[in-house]
Amino acid sequence: MSTRASLLHRTADLAAQYLDSIGERHVAALATTDELRRQLGGPLPVDGESEESVVDLLAAAGQRGTVATQGRRYFGFVVGGSVPAATAADWLVSAWDQNAGVYVLSPLVSVVEEVAAGWLKELAGLPSGWSTGFVTGCQAANFTALATARHHVLNGAGWDVEAQGLYGAPAINVVVSDESHYTIFNALKLLGLGAERVTRIPTDDQGRMRAELLGPALAALTGPTIVCAQAGNVNTGAFDPIDAIADQTTKHGAWLHVDGAFGLWAATSRSRAHLVHGIGRADSVATDAHKWLNVPYDSGVVFTAHPTSHRRAMTLSAAYIIESAKERDPHEFVPEESRRGRAVPVYAALRSLGRNGFSALVDRCCDLATRLATHLRDDARLEVLNDVVINQVLVRVVGDEADKATRTMIEHLQREGTCWASGTTWHGMAALRLSISNYSTTEADIDLTAAAIRRCVP
Ligand SMILES: *Cc1c(COP(=O)(O)O)cnc(C)c1O
Repeated sequence: MSTRASLLHRTADLAAQYLDSIGERHVAALATTDELRRQLGGPLPVDGESEESVVDLLAAAGQRGTVATQGRRYFGFVVGGSVPAATAADWLVSAWDQNAGVYVLSPLVSVVEEVAAGWLKELAGLPSGWSTGFVTGCQAANFTALATARHHVLNGAGWDVEAQGLYGAPAINVVVSDESHYTIFNALKLLGLGAERVTRIPTDDQGRMRAELLGPALAALTGPTIVCAQAGNVNTGAFDPIDAIADQTTKHGAWLHVDGAFGLWAATSRSRAHLVHGIGRADSVATDAHKWLNVPYDSGVVFTAHPTSHRRAMTLSAAYIIESAKERDPHEFVPEESRRGRAVPVYAALRSLGRNGFSALVDRCCDLATRLATHLRDDARLEVLNDVVINQVLVRVVGDEADKATRTMIEHLQREGTCWASGTTWHGMAALRLSISNYSTTEADIDLTAAAIRRCVP
């Protein structure tokens, strides 16, 4: 065996050992910052070390320094694991080391993007003619979608924003909800549209945009307008009423963007697809693959109903490209130029799961969230704060000093190690937020988690 082959085999063994034991280990990282600095720091080696010793050092540090986010009882933020075919495919991406910016640098990745884009649109219920870009995450997807919107609405007003910038441009109205994700505001900031120069539509008790207030708000605005709706609130999992919102954006000629970072995939569930009803009427949709689709970081996807606007917003040359059946140059749909073959693990996950497998994964996570909420409701000391419509559960301790008791419970739970979930604030109340997004979580894991939460109530 060549030295290179033996190094890769050794690495594969270490990675497999890590994954095989992840369900048993303490979920939070065990190493302190000092320990990691001692282990990994020191002077830059002058002459270099053996490849094996470098990999061994990282693998050893990873045992205690990583968070078991790939494990079955990690419920923090909204973090998926990675299905085995996606992890393996990601290794091939590194071995191939393709620059997936243009077709001539990697015909394979270009075609994989085409195929995966088609499959994703089919699963999400989006028209096949929409354009697709493979980006690093939903932040980048929101940015790309809103850059496309900015191009499109200003082009409609006779302004070339790519050439002239925003100086002297017609003002763009941006409409968001009180519960829009902070990455929307970050995208507005980066695009020169202003994070605070927005019209906010109030939300209901679950965090859904009140669509009946959108019509009057749009009627009061003149000029190019972009509306940002959400499929899947990061706390409650609730969905804005997309169809009713699309009625209003259609009537008033506004661009409709939907942030569906994880909620978009409710579209694959027979019992929950109604939550994204009307999604195909949007102008752009942003989502993540590294959350619910369970591929390795980093992976997000942007879809738009306006391929020409999408390319013009992202590239300088695309303005002169005549649309044809030519090969796909992946960079035309994303902010980056040189980039890795990020669509390859997406393709592998979809191919290994199939439509039924992915839909079962989504349904299983939702059913497990319901199971967890049922356990928690059985304890009179706890209160579930949200309607569990998909995979998110918000729970808090009841009684006097509920916020303090809830924060103590969260601290105990995070230290105890059975599982890990994030603290959040919902409508001014401290809460524990659990997101069931991992393909490998079982009913037994949920039962252990419920027991751990109950143990941690002060
Ligand atoms: C996670 C999330 C994002 C940001 O996605 P990243 O993958 O972290 O870039 C945006 N919107 C919503 C609703 C999310 O849940």
